Amino acid sequence: MSYVDEVFQMVVEKNPAQPEFHQAVKEVLDSLRVVIEANEEAYKRDALLERLVTPERQLLFRVPWVDDNGQVQVNNAYRVQFNSAIGPYKGGIRLHPSVNLGIIKFLGFEQIFKNSLTGLPIGGGKGGSDFDPKGKSDREVMAFCQSFMTELTKYIGADTDVPAGDIGTGAREIGYMYGQYKRLTGLYEGVLTGKGLSYGGSLARKEATGYGLLYLTAEMLKTNGIELAGKTVAISGSGNVAIYACQKAQQLGAKVVTVSDSTGWIYDAEGIDVDLLREVKEVKRARLTEYAAARPSAEYHDKKAEGNNQWVVKVDVALPCATQNELNLEDAKNLVANGVIAVAEGANMPTTAEATEYLQANGVLFAPGKAANAGGVATSALEMSQNSERLSWTFEEVDSKLQTIMVNIFHNLDDAAKKYGMEGNYVAGANIAGFLKVAEAMTAQGIV
Ligand code: NDP
Repeated sequence: MSYVDEVFQMVVEKNPAQPEFHQAVKEVLDSLRVVIEANEEAYKRDALLERLVTPERQLLFRVPWVDDNGQVQVNNAYRVQFNSAIGPYKGGIRLHPSVNLGIIKFLGFEQIFKNSLTGLPIGGGKGGSDFDPKGKSDREVMAFCQSFMTELTKYIGADTDVPAGDIGTGAREIGYMYGQYKRLTGLYEGVLTGKGLSYGGSLARKEATGYGLLYLTAEMLKTNGIELAGKTVAISGSGNVAIYACQKAQQLGAKVVTVSDSTGWIYDAEGIDVDLLREVKEVKRARLTEYAAARPSAEYHDKKAEGNNQWVVKVDVALPCATQNELNLEDAKNLVANGVIAVAEGANMPTTAEATEYLQANGVLFAPGKAANAGGVATSALEMSQNSERLSWTFEEVDSKLQTIMVNIFHNLDDAAKKYGMEGNYVAGANIAGFLKVAEAMTAQGIV
């Protein structure tokens, strides 16, 4: 059995019932085979892969809080500090009922390579809880966030571990968490990113993941001789990533015709009205049925009733921006049958392994999330720099740095794929480029 297969088998045996974590590790290890085989003796002696797939530290804790009826609720919470070879742990906090240790480990593992690809000094981590902010009052969300942070504060800091937002954790949640951290430690420091502008946040952080996704997609298309302008785009999700992906796609001359949430999706032949979408989702925190009600050109499709999602629509570019494994083999077949040119992942691992293979085998340009959505964490790292400097950069300054970072990421992975004989395989390119820097740093720092 090869070293890669041995390590993957160990991961499955030692981490039972964590299918998403297995999936993320398998994808990375499979595409690293050629690099590992070239250095197998040294990597094996140093157990480099075993250390890479084993978090440096995993924290599991309970979060008790009192709801509006005076009832005490208890949630499970996690922070996985996966790898600090190239910088302090960095990665978001997911608040969603589906959160468990395996999900947080898959996200933390992906984050190692994503953060490495940004070229910035940030290690990999991720956290979260099975708390669902949806349907809770502001006071309940604050009670949860304060209790969550009371425990997490012991393990994080501006130079050790810097969490950020993710699904369910937006500006409101980050604000409550930051307030509690400051109250407990007395420190006004850049311990969280995605902060509000009035207390140390960065301009363009809110937009960064969606904008970055489009900068990378446009560069991937351009490198392959294709213009983004004039193309039709399907987006899934209607949260932070989806909204700003939609806005930037339209600014770059493309037409976005779909968005979705967990219960339904919208087809808008005239192109999504981003201002209306923001009003419905960011301001009112309402369902997409409200978007459809306010916009005559929009059709609302209920996912359960119709049994399908937005990938049945004929588009040139598909940008999954909701959650993991939301684009499966059947969806990939629909997209290919409808002539899709490119798929770029705004969410983390939204495309199943079979769907990714099918898209690549059918000549679709495919940008993996760890590269395509790295703009969020890259801009978080820029927020950390501004906090350290006690300065705020302009929107244009941050946006232009983001654009440069995304273009560089694309060329790094394109070059890595070419160097290892896998031209056009951007999944392999991203994994290899991300891995090499981390492996070098781990080797240089000895057995820790
Ligand atoms: P938000 O919470 O702002 O939005 C999430 C969106 O996805 C909502 O429309 C939500 O619908 C939908 N969604 C969530 N869970 C499911 C599910 N199980 N099935 C179907 N739809 C679902 O999150 P973000 O936009 O921040 O994150 C989206 C993705 O992007 C995640 O994979 C995240 O890890 C990734 N990401 C985010 C970054 C960021 O900067 N925010 C950075 C890099 C990656 P509903 O409202 O109905 O729940």
